[in-house]
Amino acid sequence: MALNMELARLLACPKCLGVLSVLPAQDGLICAACGVVSPCATASR
Ligand SMILES: [Zn+2]
Repeated sequence: MALNMELARLLACPKCLGVLSVLPAQDGLICAACGVVSPCATASR
C-alpha cells in the first residue's frame, strides 16, 4: 500500500540510518545499505 511506502521513507535504518525498503510481504523493513531487517512495529494490522 502507498501508506507503507511513505512510512518506510519516513523511517531510517537504526544501524546505519540508510534508506529502508518495505519487504515484499510487507511485514517488515529492510535496509538497502546494510541489509538489516526490522519488523514493522507500526504495522496497521
Ligand atoms: Zn542499515
